[in-house]
Amino acid sequence: MATNAANSANHLPYFFGNITREEAEDYLMQGGLSDGLYLLRQSRNYLGGFALSLAHGKKVHHYTIERELSGSYAIAGGKSHMSPAELIDYHSDEADGLVCLLRRSFNRPPGVEPKTGPFEDLKENLIREYVKQTWNLQGHALEQAIISQKPQLEKLIATTAHEKMPWFHGKISREESEHRILLGKKTNGKFLLRERDNNGSYALCLLSEGKVLHYRIDRDKTGKLSIPDGKKFDTLWQLVEHYSYKPDGLQRVLTIPCAQVGSGNANTDFLPPLPGIHPKLYPSHRHLPADSASINPYVLQRTRALMGADQGDQREALPMDTEVYESPYADPEEIKPKNVYLDRAMLNLEDAELGSGNFGTVKKGFYKMKKGAKPVAVKILKNENNDPAVKDELLREANVMQQLDNPYIVRMIGICEAESWMLVMEMAELGPLNKFLQKNRHVKEKNITELVHQVSMGMKYLEENNFVHRDLAARNVLLVTQHYAKISDFGLSKALASDENYYKAQSHGKWPVKWYAPECMNFYKFSSKSDVWSFGVLMWEAFSYGQKPYKGMKGSEVAQMIERGDRMESPEACPSEMYDLMKLCWTYKVDKRPGFSAVELRLRNYYYDISQ
Ligand code: AMP
Repeated sequence: MATNAANSANHLPYFFGNITREEAEDYLMQGGLSDGLYLLRQSRNYLGGFALSLAHGKKVHHYTIERELSGSYAIAGGKSHMSPAELIDYHSDEADGLVCLLRRSFNRPPGVEPKTGPFEDLKENLIREYVKQTWNLQGHALEQAIISQKPQLEKLIATTAHEKMPWFHGKISREESEHRILLGKKTNGKFLLRERDNNGSYALCLLSEGKVLHYRIDRDKTGKLSIPDGKKFDTLWQLVEHYSYKPDGLQRVLTIPCAQVGSGNANTDFLPPLPGIHPKLYPSHRHLPADSASINPYVLQRTRALMGADQGDQREALPMDTEVYESPYADPEEIKPKNVYLDRAMLNLEDAELGSGNFGTVKKGFYKMKKGAKPVAVKILKNENNDPAVKDELLREANVMQQLDNPYIVRMIGICEAESWMLVMEMAELGPLNKFLQKNRHVKEKNITELVHQVSMGMKYLEENNFVHRDLAARNVLLVTQHYAKISDFGLSKALASDENYYKAQSHGKWPVKWYAPECMNFYKFSSKSDVWSFGVLMWEAFSYGQKPYKGMKGSEVAQMIERGDRMESPEACPSEMYDLMKLCWTYKVDKRPGFSAVELRLRNYYYDISQ
């Protein structure tokens, strides 16, 4: 599974992963050092970067391939390429600054896998701990946060991981650092890092022949770290790794990290709670601005740069930063009403309408909870609507919503019977996905992929819990932020009986037929697989920026087209991977069509791939 920059090259036979320059030279030597023989390895100093090792004149030349902020790859000052493989292809025809053309790749010998660095192994645990601590999450909420936000979290972790390392002692004085190093065994190469000031400068303190040497680590304008005149690094842990295998200007290599006395680590937010301390005593940052207090401002700035945001901007809000990531009732202090009925006195309605339908209107409101007024969206039935069927439909919708609890599904707070029947839901301020994309053509393909991936996560949850949505469409996906989508409108949804995997409608109703699979139209059969078909249409809508599917066609014409075996064409500029997935969702036979667990995985992998 592609989960990080290096993995994007894992499939290349000439990619060796996190090997050193010397190991690369050994390999090329084994290959005979012929002119133009090359291999690719992971950069050990630039995040997401690579290094190209190329033999020429019986010597090996090394080139750094940097990952640019735009996501492309380039050898310093050279042409940009979409991937390292594309860069290699290019330099097979054009030397363009290299010592010679790339002629022949040196491939990994049988049984040799790309080497993973120490950070790769640590990363999973670090991410988990970080999410737990920062947003106070556990269980499913924690897992879902990690899956949906992995690319963003990896970047955050990469720049803050040093805080977890035993060698990082935080902001201590020069004297204190000497005292700590000289305590206990005086092994040559014993070291620690300390923070010098708040501007992102550090010091490396190294024991050599009984004396402590101090090396400054400065940050340049672009945020890169280096010892004066030394090699530059994106992160402290890369710097430490480098100087652990060669002195490269230092008096000697780093050997053992100086252990911390007591809890000397500066950033307790990042550490697991001490036994016996209630987790609630740890601050939850969920309600703070995105600029979480536990993150060093310099690191945050660098993170922003890596995440592609403007330097002055706030880090883009993650779903977990919003108030609707977890149910308000997940808070043990918030009391869930026994029946779902809410007290009208606690609900304040605003005049402006968020939307409307033949049932009535949707208005913004505030519902008073223990922790303050929560913004809500309230579906209000028209009073003149004395038709009991409309009320029943609302109650059925409420009944379904009441059973669901997932970050990617609009939750119901409760229902309220007062001047009208009202369904009180979480607020998704930015409204329907199709309308949002129609108005925001600048939204990038990666952003759309992120959103549809979240929808697939919500649908996977429905599938696992035996609910069919039956009205999945871009108009029923609501946005909390530009990076956070929730599935809504459960008016047609059904809970499946435990012994059935489909719901059989008695008769044809007012159906969104352009979103319906052939078995819905022909046999009135609805299952998670027919939701998958609708999901394909939803993806088509999203990648065409909210256009109407099968434009200008009648429902019956669409059905004929599907029966003929024809499908909609790819939206303009839609990535082929995403169009292929849509077509897979439009597999005619139910048995051959993938379920949401497979669809979600495909989207996840593609999203991780393009997010590096
Ligand atoms: P519906 O009939 O449920 O599709 O709702 C009609 C319209 O009301 C939607 O298209 C949205 O614009 C708005 N709306 C519905 N639910 C919400 C919500 N939870 N948050 C914000 N807007 C909503």
